[in-house]
Amino acid sequence: MSTEKEYSFFQSVERSFDKASSYTKWETGILEQIKACNSVYSMKFPVKMDDGRIEVIEAYRVQHSQHKSPCKGGIRFSMAVNQDEVMALAALMTYKCAIVNVPFGGAKGGIKISPRTLSPYELEKITRRYTSELVKKNFIGPGIDVPAPDYGTGEREMAWIVDTYQSLKPGEIDAAGCVTGKPISLGGVRGRKEATGLGVFYGVREVCLIPEVMAKAGLTVGIENKNIVVQGLGNVGYYTAKFFREHGAKVIAIAEYEGAIYCKDGLNEEDVFQHRKATGSILNFPGATNIEKSSDALEMECDILIPAALENVIDGNNAPRIKAKIIGEAANGPLTPEADDIFAKKGVLVIPDMYLNAGGVTVSYFEWLKNLSHVRYGRLEKRFTENANMQILKQIEDLTGKQVTTAEKLIIAHGPDEIDLVHSGLEETMITATKEIMEIWKENPSIPDMRTAAYVCAINKVGTSYAELGIFP
Ligand code: NAD
Repeated sequence: MSTEKEYSFFQSVERSFDKASSYTKWETGILEQIKACNSVYSMKFPVKMDDGRIEVIEAYRVQHSQHKSPCKGGIRFSMAVNQDEVMALAALMTYKCAIVNVPFGGAKGGIKISPRTLSPYELEKITRRYTSELVKKNFIGPGIDVPAPDYGTGEREMAWIVDTYQSLKPGEIDAAGCVTGKPISLGGVRGRKEATGLGVFYGVREVCLIPEVMAKAGLTVGIENKNIVVQGLGNVGYYTAKFFREHGAKVIAIAEYEGAIYCKDGLNEEDVFQHRKATGSILNFPGATNIEKSSDALEMECDILIPAALENVIDGNNAPRIKAKIIGEAANGPLTPEADDIFAKKGVLVIPDMYLNAGGVTVSYFEWLKNLSHVRYGRLEKRFTENANMQILKQIEDLTGKQVTTAEKLIIAHGPDEIDLVHSGLEETMITATKEIMEIWKENPSIPDMRTAAYVCAINKVGTSYAELGIFP
C-alpha cells in the first residue's frame, strides 16, 4: 500500500516533522507543542442562495501556532476542504514563516464550497458571513490572525473580508491589516502578484550560486544558460519562467494540462501566454515542438525542473525517469514521499516548497507592515534619495570633468518606489533563508535532504520561541 493512502495529510506533515526533529536537541514536550494545532474552529452557518434555498456551509479556521502573533495563512474555497487538510496547511504555514523569518504563527482557513458553481452574490454573502463568524470568536484581526488568498480566492474576496471586518470594528485604526492580498486601493502592496514566482527564482538562484552544490549536481555555478522545464503557466509558473528568462536561463519546455511544448532555444512565457489566450491551448506555438502527453515534459533532459501546477505530480512511478539535476518545488507538495526518497538516493537536489514558494507570505508580511504604518513604501525617502544622489553625481562630474548620459543619470539617481523595496526585501529574505538552511545541512551532513534541513531550521526557530516564552505555570 502506498504511503499517501496510509497517512492523512496532517499525519504526513507530522511524519516529516518527526524525521527532522531527530536532528534537533529539543526535549519531547517542546517538540510536541511545536507540532500541535493550538486552536481549531470548525463552524457551520446558513446562507440563503439565489434560488431561495438555505444551504448550510461548512468552514474552518485553524491556528496552528501562536508562538508569534498574529497567525497567518490563506483561505481556501474548495469542495476538498476538510479539517485534516486545513490543520496540515496551518502547520506548514508555521514552518514556512519560521524559515523565511516572517514573525507570524501559522494558520489556515477553508470553506467547503465550489466557487465556480456559485454566483458572485452568493460568494460575497458566504465570505462576509465567514468573516463575521471569525470576528465573533476573535479569530481575525491585525494582531490576532491575518488571512490571505489561497486556492479559489483572490483580491475580491480579501476586499469583502476587510470591508466586513471594518464595519464590525468601527474606529479600529489598524483594521486594514486584518487581511492581506487586498487590492492596492484598499491597502494592498505593489509586487504581491509576482511575489511567489520571484521568490522561486531568487531561491533557486541562491542555491545555484553554491559551488559545492553545483559541483555535486555536475552543473556550472549560476543560472545563466541553464535549461529549465516549467509545469503550469499559471501565476507562479508564469512569473518563475519570466524571471529565469530575464536572467539568462532558457525555458526549454512549458507543460500545461492540454499538453506541453518544447524549443531548445528557449520559450518566451508572455508570447506563449498570449498564444494560449488566443487559441485556447499552448500547443502549436510557432517555432516549438508539441509534446502530446503533458507529463512527458517532466521527464525531459534539463538542468532544473520547476513543477508549478499541482500536488503529487511526481511519484514513485515517474521519479526514476526524471533527468533534471535540480527540482525546485514552486507548487505545494508536487513530490510524494516515495519520489523524495528516490531523488535523495539518486543525488538529485530537491529545493523544498516550504521554503521556495514562501515569496507570497513574505510580501504579505510587507503588506501588513504597510497597513500598520499607514504609509506607502518609498513615500518618505524616494525624493530625498534622488536629490542626494543627484548632488553626489554632480560633484563627481565637476571633479572629473566628465558627464554621464541622461539615461545613466536616471539609473544612478533613482530613489526607491514601493515595488523596488518589496522586491529587494524579498531578495534579502530568500538569500538569508537559503544561507540558514544550507548551514544546518553543512553542519550535519547526515541530514538526508534539503527538505529535512528546512524542517530542522523551522523547528529550531519555533522551539527557541517556545523555550524563551516559558511554559505557563
Ligand atoms: P494557478 O491556478 O494560477 O496556475 C496553475 C496552472 O497549472 C494553471 O495554468 C493550470 O492550467 C495548470 N495545470 C493544471 N493541471 C495541470 C497539469 N496536470 N499539468 C500541467 N499544468 C497544469 O495557480 P498558482 O497560483 O500558480 O499556484 C500553483 C501552485 O503553487 C499551487 O500548488 C499553489 O498551492 C502553489 N503556491 C501558489 C502561491 C501563490 O502565491 N499563487 C504561493 C505559494 C504556493
